[in-house]
Amino acid sequence: MLNNETKLFAILGCPVKHSFSPLLQNKWFEKKHLNCAYLSFEPNDYELECAIESLKELKFNGFNITVPHKIKALKYVDVIDKNAKKIGSINTVIIKENKLYGYNTDYLGFAKDLESKKVIIKNKNVIVVGAGGAARGIVFALKAGNAKNVYIANRTLDKAITLAKEFKVKSINIDDVKDTLGEADLLVNCSSCGMKKEDSLPFKFGKIKTGLVVYDLIYNKKTPFLRFAKNNKLKFFTGEGMLIWQGAYAFKLWTGKFPDIKIAEKLLKKFLK
Ligand code: NAP
Repeated sequence: MLNNETKLFAILGCPVKHSFSPLLQNKWFEKKHLNCAYLSFEPNDYELECAIESLKELKFNGFNITVPHKIKALKYVDVIDKNAKKIGSINTVIIKENKLYGYNTDYLGFAKDLESKKVIIKNKNVIVVGAGGAARGIVFALKAGNAKNVYIANRTLDKAITLAKEFKVKSINIDDVKDTLGEADLLVNCSSCGMKKEDSLPFKFGKIKTGLVVYDLIYNKKTPFLRFAKNNKLKFFTGEGMLIWQGAYAFKLWTGKFPDIKIAEKLLKKFLK
């Protein structure tokens, strides 16, 4: 039941209509018997500052930020969490006593999802494909998890080099993924390759290390990375778990409680049908 006491939350993105977050967060509020509601708004680039200011004025308690505002939103919060600062983007904001506190729960979501699937990062060799916004959080999580070597490969090599320098990891030419697969334990697709039907695997492959795990941040699509894993009988995970866990950490930041992941998994299955 919504009333004068209802605490308000939201997601800001553009487009946002496809977002799973309103369904997810409202279900968790309901299950925890919290008098909270979560809405979605679609400000464009020019409207973002005003939208954030409005949420503050209207006494919202917090919000999520999604594509394409995760970097720009850094400018509009008062305090940025130290890890979010290193990653260079925020996806969760707490509003408390008229101040905005920005966090990044994407990297936590990825790390927790790997842990829940018993995929070990520590001392492992990891290839990250992609050097955009999502890759930043993933590389940060891999470093925080003490991966032995992180190799960033990207269609545009310059971007891989820049990102690798910033995070003090290695960059490789996308064509060299072929040779690196022989020693890789984990391959993470952080690129948008697979979002379009016609996309193909951006590298060739030869020898693959036994036990290689493939993790594709893209979910609900038959991506080239999924086909690669299937054809080579490799363990494969999509970004569904990351999506759920990043939401769970946002929920925890706002409410102090950890939500039920099983409920979220069921809900996401229905949502994606
Ligand atoms: P972004 O900043 O736009 O970066 C896109 C990256 O993909 C760039 O490195 C780009 O390479 C590369 N790329 C695009 N099309 C490609 C293709 N056909 N072949 C090879 N590389 C290609 O996007 P982002 O925010 O990092 O997001 C990347 C993907 O992760 C998206 O598909 C998004 O849906 C997914 N994602 C999932 C979650 C989750 O919770 N599961 C969270 C965040 C993001 P260039 O530099 O050469 O252009």
